[in-house]
Amino acid sequence: MSALRVPGRAMTVRRHPVLPGPPEWTELAACAGSGSPDLWFPAPGEDTAAAMAVCRSCPARVRCLGYVLDDPSIKGIWAGFTERTRRRVVIQRVAGRSLEDIIAASDAAADARHDTGLARAAGETFTERKRTRERKRRAAVREARIGPEAAA
Ligand code: SF4
Repeated sequence: MSALRVPGRAMTVRRHPVLPGPPEWTELAACAGSGSPDLWFPAPGEDTAAAMAVCRSCPARVRCLGYVLDDPSIKGIWAGFTERTRRRVVIQRVAGRSLEDIIAASDAAADARHDTGLARAAGETFTERKRTRERKRRAAVREARIGPEAAA
């Protein structure tokens, strides 16, 4: 398998044996031309937030994740998942979970971690943070049941 740098793309696409070239979904890639390719290939300990934020807004995210899961040797951040977090995705996919579901759950977990960080910084106690999380969880369940407009 050979690796090639796609011109103007902030990622390296590996040429898959069954694909004649870079897959057509890379035309939709939000990372195309957005900043340094190095963002998607951080050194250990480097900040990944910028690449993650671009991936979260990318219209090709589900297809990107499906593509990269087919080859565990591919390095870097793809679809907002690092090599380590993709190993968990593989397990969840084998268990029958859809990629859309896995992405939504991962984003929700990242948001919760972010909220907890903000709450800690604001000096909220553990109990207050727990109550806030529970309130948000209930709101999300209500919204899923009756739709975002009615839940507001
Ligand atoms: S999900 Fe991320 S890595 Fe994949 S194409 Fe989109 S921006 Fe690039």
